[in-house]
Amino acid sequence: MTDFDFESRIVDIPDYPEPGVVFKDITPLFDDPEALRAVVDSVADHFANAGITKVVGAEARGFLVGAPVAYRLGCGFVPARKPGKLPREVFSQSYSLEYGTDEIQIHKDALTSEDRVLIVDDLVATGGTAIASAQLVEQSGAAVAGFAFILELSFLKPRHLIAEKYPQEVFSLVKVG
Ligand code: 5GP
Repeated sequence: MTDFDFESRIVDIPDYPEPGVVFKDITPLFDDPEALRAVVDSVADHFANAGITKVVGAEARGFLVGAPVAYRLGCGFVPARKPGKLPREVFSQSYSLEYGTDEIQIHKDALTSEDRVLIVDDLVATGGTAIASAQLVEQSGAAVAGFAFILELSFLKPRHLIAEKYPQEVFSLVKVG
């Protein structure tokens, strides 16, 4: 595990995208080559011996983390996308938001029962997106091997929600709250 200071590169944006919300901007971790390498290497090194065969990342920032981690692990990458974005047959999973519901999808043939899947995203807040991603993996008949995030908003207790359904490891580079 690197001693890179990830937290100092994450910028708080008050009242974005709406009043009362503090958005965590992780883009400074991606535009700096040293930070980008530290993010990708830290996640990939942690799961290097976990037998991962595929990485799933949710639209859109999960793509930024997931694809380079998959490359480093020597795995394939599977995008979990918003409805209507994938051109072939899909599995769908809806999940609750603070107000209303959302849905993500993966191609039906992207995973097989042989796959051990690492689920990645830039940030975990409630855990809803991560759980929906894991449910897509299960719909595909593949196994969920673990979860990895750059930033975990611990005060929202996403680990508790994830652990209700998935006992697999949850790995975060930074925890706040
Ligand atoms: P959850 O489903 O865990 O409640 O929310 C996590 C999802 O919302 C992730 O896909 C993440 O990209 C996005 N998200 C929610 N809040 C933030 C934030 O403050 N910063 C960033 N970068 N992403 C967020």
